[in-house]
Amino acid sequence: MAAPQRQPRHADIAMNVQNNSVVTFHYALTDAGQPVESSREREPLAILIGAHNIIPGLENAMLGRNQGDRFQVSIPPAEAYGEYKADYTQRVPKKYFRDADKLKPGMQTMLQSNDGPRVVTVAKIGQTVIDVDLNHPMAGKTLDFDIEIIEVREPSDEEKAHGHVHGPGGHHHE
Ligand code: ZN
Repeated sequence: MAAPQRQPRHADIAMNVQNNSVVTFHYALTDAGQPVESSREREPLAILIGAHNIIPGLENAMLGRNQGDRFQVSIPPAEAYGEYKADYTQRVPKKYFRDADKLKPGMQTMLQSNDGPRVVTVAKIGQTVIDVDLNHPMAGKTLDFDIEIIEVREPSDEEKAHGHVHGPGGHHHE
């Protein structure tokens, strides 16, 4: 005989993370055991799930979680910043760099592209041109995150329309 179904009262249901949830969380990112970045010294980050505010692997890892959950997740390049592509370089005239004189191979700099500013890595410096590596600095890396979910809530209509969170840890409009 089936056990009687207990109807959960509303107060029993902690909202878990789903598409369109606003999630506020702390993160610590390590790459091969080395600390890269952490939110612990600042306010937690707030994102809108499904709006691609963060890498896909991290969005997916948050689905179904609850406020207070702490977990580790390892995200492969394909769900993070993509695989590293060899020969993904471009030769760019020096005049397009604001800081051309200060650049050295291996340094990162910002370059204007059709999709807006993007971070590139200096590969080689010539007389009048610079070869840049267009791979994202984190391309090809498996990213290990330690995540703590601070809050889960519904988005406001305005946040849904904008595709990002407003207020602490989110987007601040001028
Ligand atoms: Zn906005």
